[in-house]
This record gives sequence, C-alpha cells and structure tokens, in this order.
Amino acid sequence: MSPPPTCPACGESARLDLLSETPVDVIWDALEAVLHRAYPPAVRVRNTPDRTLTLRRCGACDLRFFWPLRAGDAEFYASVVDDVGYTTEKWEFGWVRARSAAGSRALDVGCGHGVFLAGLLRRGDTVFGLEQSDEVAARTAARGIPMSMESIESFSRSNAGAFDFASAFHVLEHVTDPAGFVRDVARCVRPGGSVFLSMPNDERTFRPALEALDFPPHHVTRWTERSLRALADRLGLRVVEVGFEPLAHDTARYVLEKRLHAAVRASVPRVGQALGAAVGFLASRALFPSRRLYEAAEVARRFDLHGLAIVARVEVPR
Ligand SMILES: [Zn+2]
Repeated sequence: MSPPPTCPACGESARLDLLSETPVDVIWDALEAVLHRAYPPAVRVRNTPDRTLTLRRCGACDLRFFWPLRAGDAEFYASVVDDVGYTTEKWEFGWVRARSAAGSRALDVGCGHGVFLAGLLRRGDTVFGLEQSDEVAARTAARGIPMSMESIESFSRSNAGAFDFASAFHVLEHVTDPAGFVRDVARCVRPGGSVFLSMPNDERTFRPALEALDFPPHHVTRWTERSLRALADRLGLRVVEVGFEPLAHDTARYVLEKRLHAAVRASVPRVGQALGAAVGFLASRALFPSRRLYEAAEVARRFDLHGLAIVARVEVPR
C-alpha cells in the first residue's frame, strides 16, 4: 500500500483531484517509439511497479503530480540522456545570465554537459556543477568544468551560503521531493542571493497528443506559475520574477495551421477536408510570414503564446 497522496509542492492532502489514469505500458510503448529503443519488462516493472500511472491535481496550488511519486533509476536516465537535450543552449540560460552579475560565484544543480556553466566561465564567473548521471558527469568533467557527483543534500551541508546564485534547469519535475530539493539548493546561496529554477510549463500553448516523456519514470510532477509560487511560500522564499519561454515561430505557424484546418473541416460539409488544408496552410503563412517579423513584433509575448519553459528567480532572505 502506498501512503495517501500529498501535494509535493504545497503539502495539501485534502483537495487532490484525480485527473487521469494511464496504463503504464501505453507510456513505455510510446517511449520506445520516440526514443527508438526497447525497454525489457524488468526495466519497466522496476521503474513503474504499478499497472497505471495516476495523475492528480492539487486544488490548493494547481500542481499536477503522479502518485505514488517514483523517479526513474540511473539506468533509465542513461537511456534518455542523448535524446532530451542536456547538451544545447536553452532559452532560459540567457534569461538567467541577464539577471546575474558577471564575476559571480555560481552553482548549477543538474548541470548536464555544462553548457550553462561554460557560458558563465566565459564571462568570468567562478562556477561549480552537480550532476547525478555518471556518464554525463564524466564528459562534463573532461571538458574542464569544476563539478562533482555529490547529492545536493550532502553538498548543501558543507557549502551553506557559498554561492551568489544557484540554478536548477529542468530538475524539479524529475525529483520526488521538490520542496526538499529547493530548500537544499537555497541553502547553498548567500543571504540576498538568488535561486533560478526552470521547468516545463504545464500551461504551454502547444503539446502533442501523448508526450511520453512528460510521464513517469521521466517526469513525476507538472508545474505552473501558481504551483511554483506555492512551493516558494512553503519554504519562506520570495519569487521575485517569473519568465515564460515564448512559443517559437515554426511551432506557432504549425499550431495555427492545424487549428484552422480542423475548424474548417468541422464546419464545412463535403469539401471541408481539402478546403481546411488550403485555408490552414495559406492563412498560417500569411499571418506568420517570417521568424524575423514574428520575433520583432513580439507576437508570442503579446498573445501569451507560451513555449516549453517557465523560469523563476527566487530570492533567499537576507
Ligand atoms: Zn499543492
């Protein structure tokens, strides 16, 4: 028997709505299709012992989470590491660089291949990274990024207040105790310093029908601005600013094309299918002709078209 569900962001235990129940094998089969690899029954059972994945929504803070909370094991993470973009610049890296001073002492928790820290080194920061995946850590250390594989829980005990700011990009949605995780990250930051947290925004404008990587064993929680603020409140931390990754031009055009196509198909008899395809194609290109114009006119910001990430700057009390 698993313990009764409790919201891992705000601690609520009463108002927890059941949103969906998904058979685990549906997710594993979809993962195999997306990642082009096979997961033997033993790996499936070890990472997801229950037959269904139960998604709940917290009525107090809006967090959506799978219960019981169970993160994927090291072997599972090693299998997805090359497919989920730990190696490239993320939109929120620039957001954080713009809000932190060159020459800072910076800690990145879940630093992956060290792309963010390498950028900070170039501007003269003193950096340190923590990474749990040994395969990734070996590659990052080989590139000369100062780092270790110590857990944040243990690291924070010997490095309290040692950094001007700390960051954790796309880590929160993987951990089973996000409150404990953020508390430990914040402990490493000096009074008045900042913690930067980014994660997938559960209110993003576009998502495919079934995102297997947004389910356990990969993601165990799904976040909105409200749930992020509730987590900070619970820890006595103040959210100073929240940023939303704008929807990319090609995705905006794709979404508009598909929606117009579907609307015309549903409302025009007989020729709706062909007419919808033509209307969707032409209108989406007429309205969003080029990426340069789309970005110059700040279309995504004006119309609240949200891309993948939400990022928050959290202040550690003085
Ligand atoms: Zn909650």
